[in-house]
Amino acid sequence: THFGYREVPTGDKQKLVGQVFSSVAGNYDLMNDLMSLGIHRVWKRYFVATAQVGKGDRVLDLAGGTGDIAALLKDRVGDAGEVVLGDINAGMLRVGRDRLTDRGLVRGLEYVQCNAEQLPFPDASFDLVTIAFGLRNVTDKDAALREMQRVLKVGGQARVLEFSEVQADWFKPLYDFHSFKVLPRLGQLFAHDAGSYRYLAESIRRHPPQDELKAMMEAAGFARVDYRNLNAGIVAIHTGYRV
Ligand code: SAM
Repeated sequence: THFGYREVPTGDKQKLVGQVFSSVAGNYDLMNDLMSLGIHRVWKRYFVATAQVGKGDRVLDLAGGTGDIAALLKDRVGDAGEVVLGDINAGMLRVGRDRLTDRGLVRGLEYVQCNAEQLPFPDASFDLVTIAFGLRNVTDKDAALREMQRVLKVGGQARVLEFSEVQADWFKPLYDFHSFKVLPRLGQLFAHDAGSYRYLAESIRRHPPQDELKAMMEAAGFARVDYRNLNAGIVAIHTGYRV
């Protein structure tokens, strides 16, 4: 269900509020918080805490953006491990690197500008490949999944964290209301940008639901593909292995 949407008139106060969140990263984090009511932080922590990864591993976080996942992963691979943060956007990569550097995370971190559809890494380079809230934005998702499979070592795990299809019927109207009514207005008010927030909600509805993404991962060559819904399927974690 798509609710009708009316533009909120732009006032000086809104301009002021907008200026507060003028940096790319600031807007980006705000967007995440508004989108998920802050819960994305919990989802990300769970996503990394339950990953198949150990000390000394070499891992790749695709569409890594501002580095939330990479920072959590670095903690898991330890001093001997290595985290490669890949993103197609140079601006996001720069913000990610500055962030992690400010937190004292320098050694064992690498930043690579790359398209998930065509990775600049040899076969079997990583113990774990993750992509969080990124696959939705990739044009050729099948190509990205095949590439994730290719760069994994045998026995390695791929993990996808993404918005998915809400499973609880009672919750669907509330979720739609939040997505199409509340969110664009919050976006307008705080980030001066209703359009992007509306796009976000629509891109989530277009993303393949749980079982479809599972089938895509199997078609890309992953074995033992499975998924787990979090919060009634607002997001899902898909996992697959290279065998
Ligand atoms: N993973 C981060 C997180 O969870 O906070 C960032 C998610 S952000 C919504 C999506 C990211 O995907 C952006 O940083 C964008 O630049 C990146 N991206 C979009 N298309 C991509 C592609 N084809 N290959 C690699 N990165 C891509």
